[in-house]
Amino acid sequence: KFYEPHVAAFGSMNSGGKIPLGLKRKGLRIVVTGGAGFVGSHLVDRLIERGDSVIVVDNFFTGRKENVMHHFKNPRFELIRHDVVEPLLLEVDQIYHLACPASPVHYKHNPVKTIKTNVVGTLNMLGLAKRVGARFLLTSTSEVYGDPLQHPQVETYWATSIQSLVNKLVQVSSAKAVRLTCARHEACVVKGLSVFVSSHGGVGGGGRLGMSLLTLDPIQDTRVKEPRNWRVINRPVHIFNFGQSKRVTGARGVRSCYDEGKRTAETLTMDYHRGAGVEVRIARIFNTYGPRMCIDDGRVVSNFVAQALRKEPLTVYGDGKQTRSFQYVSDLVEGLMRLMEGEHVGPFNLGNPGEFTMLELAQVVQETIDPNARIEFRPNTEDDPHKRKPDITKAKDLLGWEPKVSLRKGLPLMVSDFRQRIFGDHKEDST
Ligand code: NAD
Ligand code: UDP
Ligand code: UDP
Repeated sequence: KFYEPHVAAFGSMNSGGKIPLGLKRKGLRIVVTGGAGFVGSHLVDRLIERGDSVIVVDNFFTGRKENVMHHFKNPRFELIRHDVVEPLLLEVDQIYHLACPASPVHYKHNPVKTIKTNVVGTLNMLGLAKRVGARFLLTSTSEVYGDPLQHPQVETYWATSIQSLVNKLVQVSSAKAVRLTCARHEACVVKGLSVFVSSHGGVGGGGRLGMSLLTLDPIQDTRVKEPRNWRVINRPVHIFNFGQSKRVTGARGVRSCYDEGKRTAETLTMDYHRGAGVEVRIARIFNTYGPRMCIDDGRVVSNFVAQALRKEPLTVYGDGKQTRSFQYVSDLVEGLMRLMEGEHVGPFNLGNPGEFTMLELAQVVQETIDPNARIEFRPNTEDDPHKRKPDITKAKDLLGWEPKVSLRKGLPLMVSDFRQRIFGDHKEDST
């Protein structure tokens, strides 16, 4: 059910909440920031098809006019070249906020700009939502889970998954874990290591040497209220080396401009919701693929598909045993629209739970495009997450959503688009 367009959107000062006759519209007025990009342009297609008026706001950093030019003649479509880091005045009912480079190649290109886009850009769009009473949807990312120790990832990961971290500690150290409770929080002490872990995901060295704890859940307030009640058994002996999980325990790496940026964007979104009453929605998107993906963005699906088409070897990083879950773009768009129209703030994981190793993905690409495509192993980047797979129970239960397109069905749907863009073959349809 669509809600009434907000009166502020019509600039009316004394209409008493009623929309003047003749100005009543059938569809909604919707801004899609980043709407000339991969996901955004597919969303725009669906919104236009539904009868809404769509304004795309994009600075074309990674987006392309070609992705939306089939709407140029439609009076319900507008395209504005604008950088969301600058304020923007518009009158709309809904804001889908997607503007942000999404692939490592792009977001690492200018990390400071990536942070500004996530923080200042999101702030501006929330300010806009507040001013006109629009509903605001943030596209966050599975990267907020870091290199997760819990598998698959649930939305409450950092608030509830301490046991898995402790299990990992025990596994690595063969020490016995002791569990403590304090008010509504939990702490775990690993004997001999003097490491304690609080239920907000912070990790300390123990006792007076305890490091300042990090708040890792952008949604819930999980700070420790009574730190003095925490007890650490054994005086500090060792400082535990967290190895793979260092990215989520404080050290900031080259991906942080993106994942910390998105965490901050989530935090801002919740604060505008709590503090200013803005209606918000948060999606945490898992790896998505489909037509119109940037060809040379370095992501695994676009790399493999382009490599197979160009008869180049498929570059598998590391041993290729790391996993990802790949979602076809139409499933994501359906999830985003259900989230926007539904009653729940989120965050919601939107992803396909089908999990593949990179070697298995290479095999699907071979089956789909070229059975003779060779595989070439390359060194992996240091901070590459080992596993990723969404738990989508919450989206299933509350949004009635689940992905429909499997990897084997979806992959062939992007091949003709890639072929056309790589070889300029105009005979085939792009979408
Ligand atoms: P994309 O790079 O194709 O699209 C991003 C769009 O935002 C581009 O059109 C780009 O030009 C625009 N943009 C970037 N910075 C901007 C700025 N400062 N002002 C205005 N426009 C700007 O990426 P995508 O895959 O379509 O991702 C869309 C959103 O979904 C992003 O927020 C991304 O973080 C999120 N997301 C995507 C994935 C995925 O697998 N594709 C996964 C998790 C999250
Ligand atoms: N903003 C915007 N468009 C609007 C309203 C606000 O771009 O229609 C920007 C505004 O410039 C500010 C940010 O959003 O930088 C936050 O706005 P808000 O009103 O929440 O805060 P304030 O302007 O009081 O800092
Ligand atoms: N990857 C790969 N070959 C490539 C590009 C990426 O094996 O040519 C791996 C990469 O190391 C990672 C996985 O594929 O483990 C997914 O990488 P991508 O950049 O697509 O997404 P993200 O790491 O953001 O999930």
